[in-house]
Amino acid sequence: MKLDSLALKLGFEKKSGGFSRSFHGYEVNLVGYKFPGAYVQLPMLMFVLDHALTTEDIKSLKKIVGLTRFVKESAGLKNNAFLVNGRFKNQEKLEERLAKITEKLSELNLKSLTHCPYCGEEDTDSVRIIKGATIHVHNACVEKFVEQVTTHINTVSHSKEHLAKSIIFALIGGFIGLIPSIILLAFAGIYSAWLFLLIPFAAFYGFKKGGAQKGAYVMPIVAIISVIMAPGFMFYAYYDFAMYNGITFSALLSDPDMMTAFTSDMVMSVLFIALALWVSWSKIYKQTLGQVKKDMQDLQR
Ligand SMILES: [Zn+2]
Repeated sequence: MKLDSLALKLGFEKKSGGFSRSFHGYEVNLVGYKFPGAYVQLPMLMFVLDHALTTEDIKSLKKIVGLTRFVKESAGLKNNAFLVNGRFKNQEKLEERLAKITEKLSELNLKSLTHCPYCGEEDTDSVRIIKGATIHVHNACVEKFVEQVTTHINTVSHSKEHLAKSIIFALIGGFIGLIPSIILLAFAGIYSAWLFLLIPFAAFYGFKKGGAQKGAYVMPIVAIISVIMAPGFMFYAYYDFAMYNGITFSALLSDPDMMTAFTSDMVMSVLFIALALWVSWSKIYKQTLGQVKKDMQDLQR
């Protein structure tokens, strides 16, 4: 079901691009939420609160929503928002759930965020839609914030500080990510595209450990290391096989069957790593400064 028809059915109003309604003094947003790796957006209820949720708050809220998904988010402030399933048969069912959630929220002394998250003042003059939720702001505060963050990112994103260390750590990380594939190949004689997924993530983890800014260089470095690691690993497997049999690598490949197997394995490893990069890309990108830049664009209307 489309988000706007669900919104209409459940009594949400469209205000400046977002769907919201009030309930017992709380502002509730209906948003389309895309889980990592998912292709479709799911309708979710989003609550944006005036301060960060503690682990205890989250525990007691999770008890209220039961087994359905509970997603912690940040909107305007850090860790001050959460989402729960937003699909309901009718308004009555929705309100039953809202009554329970809002009762718990007031018990936890969590209120809807109504002040400007940038300066803390109440008398806001505008709104921004952040992750689908309506956030009350001052235009001047948003402009100042965007300008400061953009300047900062542009400065640090191309910083080369710790870059060499991060590249070395990313290489080590990528190699560690390759180890499960090496083990599987050594013991079972097979390799798995899924295990190749570990390579970009491990390389990125290494990059972070190196301490460089997660700016302009991250994605190409992760991609290059991954693309080198996978076929390199396949090459090594054949090389090792030749050594094991006491022949040279070129002697091994002079056998037409071996050559065919080698070529197809090399091609497969490139395809597998391309697939692994494709799957991991958005998850890694989300943690980079590039994502912050994108988020800034959402604030500028
Ligand atoms: Zn303000």
